[in-house]
Amino acid sequence: MDRQSRCFGQYGRPYLVRPVNLPQRNPYEGAPIVLQGNAASYSQPIHQSRRRNSFDSGIQSYYSRPASVMSRTTSVSETIQQEQIQIDLDMSVWDFYDKVRQKTLSCEKMRLNGYPMMGAENVVVIHPTKYEKDKHIWALTDDRECLRCHKMFSFHDMQGCDSHVHVTNQMPISVKSEFVETPPALSKHDPRSNKVYAVDCEMVYTMNGLELARFTMTNFNDEVELDLYVKPAGAILDLNTQHSGITMLDLEKTVETLETCRHQLFQFINSETILVGHSLESDLKALRLVHPNVVDTAIIFAENGRKQRLCHLSEHFLRRTIQLPGDGHNSKEDSQTTYNLLKYFISKQLFSSS
Ligand SMILES: [Zn+2]
Repeated sequence: MDRQSRCFGQYGRPYLVRPVNLPQRNPYEGAPIVLQGNAASYSQPIHQSRRRNSFDSGIQSYYSRPASVMSRTTSVSETIQQEQIQIDLDMSVWDFYDKVRQKTLSCEKMRLNGYPMMGAENVVVIHPTKYEKDKHIWALTDDRECLRCHKMFSFHDMQGCDSHVHVTNQMPISVKSEFVETPPALSKHDPRSNKVYAVDCEMVYTMNGLELARFTMTNFNDEVELDLYVKPAGAILDLNTQHSGITMLDLEKTVETLETCRHQLFQFINSETILVGHSLESDLKALRLVHPNVVDTAIIFAENGRKQRLCHLSEHFLRRTIQLPGDGHNSKEDSQTTYNLLKYFISKQLFSSS
């Protein structure tokens, strides 16, 4: 135990964390590196951490730990540092990719969780989730049910919302033709194939439903590969700035469109690339993208099928407070957080199998 410290895993079971002074290797280069996003960047002032309410009752019971256990938990910075280094132990780019690949969703799980999939004659199919079984994903007319007040409204008459303005996440049936598949690998040596990226999108409400307004993709080292503001194609109903963090100025300044965004994305990924996200189906729907290799942190951290919010998982496992009320979401922060949750999960799994 002199070179090992005790930490606590996802389900409250104690497990051992390897010593922190072992060589670090970048899974993308195979050479020693200094990891970005070091412990200091995760430290939160106590008063800030306390601004968010404690977990809801579900997550409280799910992740609750005895007080005696909490008191023995290592400090925030120590825990994060240990977890990140644990991930790098004796792990090549292929090992990391293979570990993550084991957590990719099966076709059936993708279908049940509402991921866009390519159906017959290259027409996208989105299966309603258990929460959407009475909803229509595709709209055949201009009539919609408002997500906020649940009244039916028409784009010809937007008056009468009980809560701000009417909004919808239903897509016109014509949007089906906007969906594309991620291109395949050019060869077995395609350098995009063995990569794992985290992605997160911010969306705004338009007449086309939820449309992409910001796209961020980060890598293993918390580095931003892409961070683009994107002009939506449809008329904007609500920027939803409180949650999306998107302002009109952001959209006025950018020249990017969905097509240019995807074009840049495909410089980094092919169909073999693993994309990680939290409820990634929403992001892929906004990207109008069918991608076969996905890891969903909302699913791998779910208990009894119950998904938890990213901010709760972050606070609990990473001791990092994100998405504070009034701050809106930040796709860069959310993307990095998602990747770190995946690394946390993999590091735990590594130890369990060793
Ligand atoms: Zn309404």
